[in-house]
Formats: sequence, C-alpha cells, structure tokens
Amino acid sequence: MQKTLVIIKPDAVQRRLIGKIINRFEEKGLEIVGLKMTVISEGLAKEHYSVHEGREYYENLIKFMTSGPVVMLVLRGMNAIEVTRKLMGSTFGYEADPGTIRGDYAMSKRFNLIHGSDSEESAEREISLFFENGDLTQNEQSGLKWIYDMSGENPL
Ligand code: ATP
Ligand code: MG
Repeated sequence: MQKTLVIIKPDAVQRRLIGKIINRFEEKGLEIVGLKMTVISEGLAKEHYSVHEGREYYENLIKFMTSGPVVMLVLRGMNAIEVTRKLMGSTFGYEADPGTIRGDYAMSKRFNLIHGSDSEESAEREISLFFENGDLTQNEQSGLKWIYDMSGENPL
C-alpha cells in the first residue's frame, strides 16, 4: 500500500475546515496512519517546497505556510498519491472542479487549503521531513476488508 503526505494549510485551519477535509479522505477509504497539528518552521517549509525556490511566488508561499498552525496527515491506501491529488483538485481554487476539496472551498491561487505529495519520491521525502518512523501506526485497520477485496494475496 502506498503512503502520501497531506498538509491542511493555515487557511483551512483558520476557516475551520479541518474536519470537512479529513472527512473526505476517511469516507473515500484512505487510512490515516499519522496525524499531528504543528506550526511549520521556516527551515522545514523551505525544504518541503525546495523545488519552487526562485519562483516569483516562493517567498510568499513560505510566509503563508509558516503563518499559523497546520494539520499533517499521512494517508495509506491503494494508489494513495493519485487518489489524494484527485480529491484535492487542481492547484488554483477558482479552476478546481466542483466536488474536489479545492473546487468546493477555495478561490485563490495561494490559499488553496491543502497540500498532497505528487510522486512516490516526494511522498517518501516529505513524510520523513515531518514524521519519525515510530510516529506512524503499524496497526491494520479492521474495516479494510470492506474497503478492498482482501480475499486474495493482494488487496483488490
Ligand atoms: P501543493 O504542492 O501545495 O500540493 P500543487 O502541487 O497543486 O500544490 P504546486 O505547483 O506544487 O501545486 O505549487 C505549490 C504551492 O505554491 C501551491 O499549492 C500554491 O499554494 C502555491 N502556488 C503555486 N503557483 C502559484 C502562483 N502562480 N501564485 C501563487 N501561489 C502559487
Ligand atoms: Mg506540489
């Protein structure tokens, strides 16, 4: 099963959307295997968004991401990275499709409520940036057998 990092950004926390956003992932069938609320340091924000360094929006993105508490989630599931990105919607709120988190709740380019890893490589890098291995639950969730067909060797 694949893992991905989600950050519920400062705008979503201030707009009291934490519950609604987490609900989308739970209802879809993704497992929450890590969860915390924190304020991201400038150093970690810069590392997290290092591929954007030099872009005209970079400095303000770092200011935004460190401007207040965020909620971090590690989600696990089949194709968790792609599924999470689909549920989030495209980057800019005003362009994102209705039915997605950004499409339903965001209007802005920068204040787009949520981050999700975009590849296996970034997911691994980002999870290890914000979580120790021991912070993630290793427990199998009992409800899984009604989320996937678990009768074979691999979940289907
Ligand atoms: P994220 O990485 O946060 O999940 P994303 O992968 O959809 O978002 P990226 O292209 O990686 O989009 O951009 C990272 C973040 O930088 C965006 O979520 C947004 O907050 C901000 N951003 C990107 N492009 C712009 C822009 N042109 N103007 C202002 N902010 C931007
Ligand atoms: Mg991105």
